[in-house]
Amino acid sequence: MLYRSPLIQFGKNLILIGVIAGIYFVFGLLGLLFRIPPDPIGFLMPSAGLALAATLLLGNWILPGVAIGGFCVSAWAFDFNPGFVSVYAASAIGSTLSALIGAGLIRKIIGFPNPLVKGKNIILFMFLGGPLSCLMSATIGITPLYALGVTTTLTSIASGWLSWWVGGILGVLIFTPLILILFAEPQPIWHRRRATVGLPIVLTFALVVVLFFYLDRIGRQQYTEQLKEQAITLSRALKNRISLDLSALYGLKSFLLSSTAIEPQEVLLLANQSLFSFKEIKLISWINDKENPGEKNQFFSANNGQQHNKPKALRLLSPELRKKILERSSFSETEFLIPEKNGFRLVVPIVKKIDQEIKDLGVIIASVSIEGLIHQALDGLNTANCSMTVSAVQDTVANSTNTGIKNLYTNIDNSDHEPYQTITIPVADQKWLLSFYRDSRCEKTGRHWPIGWIIFTGLWFTGILGIVLLHLTGRYFRTEAVIEERTKILTQTKTAAESANQAKNQFLANISHELRTPLNGISGFTQLLEKKPSLDLEGKKQVAIIKQCSDNLLRLINDILDISAIESQQIKLDVDDFDFALLLTDSLQICKFRADEKGLKLIAKNTCLFRNYLGDEKRIRQILVNLIDNAIKYTSHGSVTVNVSYQLGVMDISIADTGCGIDMDDVERIFFPFIQVSTNNYTREGIGLGLSITKELVNLMDGNISVSSQPGSGSIFTVTLPLPISVKNQTKLMPLIGREAQFKDLYVLVVDDSEINLLFLVSMLEQLGCKVDSAMDGQQALALIEQHSYDLALVDINMPVMNGLELVKKVRSQHRKLKVAAVSAYADKEKINEALSAGFDIYLTKPIEEHQLADLIHKGIDESSEK
Ligand code: ADP
Repeated sequence: MLYRSPLIQFGKNLILIGVIAGIYFVFGLLGLLFRIPPDPIGFLMPSAGLALAATLLLGNWILPGVAIGGFCVSAWAFDFNPGFVSVYAASAIGSTLSALIGAGLIRKIIGFPNPLVKGKNIILFMFLGGPLSCLMSATIGITPLYALGVTTTLTSIASGWLSWWVGGILGVLIFTPLILILFAEPQPIWHRRRATVGLPIVLTFALVVVLFFYLDRIGRQQYTEQLKEQAITLSRALKNRISLDLSALYGLKSFLLSSTAIEPQEVLLLANQSLFSFKEIKLISWINDKENPGEKNQFFSANNGQQHNKPKALRLLSPELRKKILERSSFSETEFLIPEKNGFRLVVPIVKKIDQEIKDLGVIIASVSIEGLIHQALDGLNTANCSMTVSAVQDTVANSTNTGIKNLYTNIDNSDHEPYQTITIPVADQKWLLSFYRDSRCEKTGRHWPIGWIIFTGLWFTGILGIVLLHLTGRYFRTEAVIEERTKILTQTKTAAESANQAKNQFLANISHELRTPLNGISGFTQLLEKKPSLDLEGKKQVAIIKQCSDNLLRLINDILDISAIESQQIKLDVDDFDFALLLTDSLQICKFRADEKGLKLIAKNTCLFRNYLGDEKRIRQILVNLIDNAIKYTSHGSVTVNVSYQLGVMDISIADTGCGIDMDDVERIFFPFIQVSTNNYTREGIGLGLSITKELVNLMDGNISVSSQPGSGSIFTVTLPLPISVKNQTKLMPLIGREAQFKDLYVLVVDDSEINLLFLVSMLEQLGCKVDSAMDGQQALALIEQHSYDLALVDINMPVMNGLELVKKVRSQHRKLKVAAVSAYADKEKINEALSAGFDIYLTKPIEEHQLADLIHKGIDESSEK
């Protein structure tokens, strides 16, 4: 076992805590992007999702990392203002407790690690980790903000708390599954969700982020445009207001010009009346006697606001200022402006032409409050987010002492950055520069709520999409598990069924072997008996019945073997060229005895032009015999007609009878195994396998079988088989009749442990004219083979001392040119293949028919004569 020092482990944990704190911080900054100022809290907190996932995956010891991360993010959000340390601490504690509670509840209630494949577990997981545990961080986090007066109103507390809570929930919904997909156990389940859950969440989230920044940019652009328009509007308003102020002063000026003797009381009254609505004009003064510059009664003031309705020397101009004003206005009609603290004096000179002589009468001086001016000018206009400064560019020629730019007004703390808009307006003898600045607070407010709502909806969509995808994939995994389980059961069942089937096949093969062996004796001796000339007619009839019975029994055994081979899909076609005319004659020959017995006419009409075709001769014979035999079986009088024609590569065979026919309802069923339908007056022979085997064989040859029947009148079975014409197209075999003469010199060895079989084979071969020796086992046979030169050996497989397979192997090892034929009661493919690969030239299945033996001997001669 690997030993790990506790110190190394501690160091590793410390590093991991640092890593988690770092990632938490980065996730926190990502969340801060989704802020709508003035709210200090973003409405997405990816860090909450990370905290929960990290605690679940690594354990509670990782929580210091969460606390450090939480503290740093909060400090960043409040520009590291030391006054908000309690907020940072509360944020750290809130995040840590949320993760601790969320992870704890999840572990306890649904358990973790958990593949989250059940819908109920997914919902519980999200609820416990999201809405429930985030209550903690929101509540703890918002408290110091309230205590410090950052959030004061009930609405702002509620909205701040809600942002915090919802932000946390969204963070958990979106980011926890993403992290679990990467690291959680069981990995085979979570990893497979990368493409199906992770990718869609990441893409949707990325889309939301891109949308957010895009809309934010558009929002800012629109905001800048609005600010520019606002700046122009406000500048115009200011300019207009100053023009209005001047117009009012011109009214006063006209009055003074038109009067010769004006009482100060009158000026006061007029000023009060005409300038009543100009609240920005705080004081009107009038200097009316330039030649006699006495201090008293030279100034008359009108205090805006009507508090003072008596002429009063409210403020005396300093002698220097007075001198300066009078000097600048001498004989000039142009009004001018003198800046002063919190405003300016607007001086309107009064000059009169009397008898071609210009007379300087004095000046009107209006003290204007800049704040008042701006207030009056912009009253009723949108001044929200307006940060501006007003500065005067003074006339340098006229007043060389006060050159340059003088700031008259500002509503911002510092304007060290560039104004986004500067507009110049003419005011009296000066130009004013109106500079408009961006306010960073107002700037952020540019991210207004419509954008917020879109993003908010997008984030919720992403979160809910994650839940839905987790649910869908979970359902898929559950279904997959059920399928896997069932497939396993099915495979087990299939294997069991296959081995049962194999056992059945083995059993059938054994049974077939055991039945064939005695059948060989019965059939063989019946054939020998048939040929006995001493047998009378009655005896011949009885022998024929024995032969018929043994044939039926053999067919039954063959049928059972065939159906078992078909079921286990072991049946294969053995395609070779064959003589169809001979096959038809053979098949009719086999059935002839039965037809004769029932007095039925067996008619064959063959219109095929060619004799040789390519196909499985044995199976085609089986099809024909089955159908002809059935036709004879279910017909009591009349005829059975076999019609054969060949066209365009397809052989058409129809077998028509005049028998009992088949009900329409049963026509389909008769092709199923073991189905025998009611055939009135006919004793049931067979076990209902013939037609199902026939149909399978026809299908195997890509052919078709159909039946049309009229109950009571007969049936027609039609078989179509695609059979190519053989290139040889000539009869290979010679007619059987007259062959015996050629077997005279054939020396044959027969080896069989069954005395009956031995006797039958020897007798039959001798009847065919062969010279025959016999042996009871392989060893005896081998000794005989070494002594004599045989043309052919017929060898049984199952024998004591040395079996047929061992014998043939020995013979082949001695390189003898001896034809060896296996004669066995085993009829299954496996045994046949085994025998052929051991060295046998040919395999004959018991019971042996005489014509088979004649054929075999003939082949033996053919090949030995070729040698
Ligand atoms: P089996 O003849 O051994 O009963 P088959 O599979 O050969 O089994 O035939 C199934 C059933 O189809 C038979 O039991 C019989 O009822 C019906 N049948 C087959 N051939 C004919 C026919 N030529 N005429 C009437 N009925 C037939």
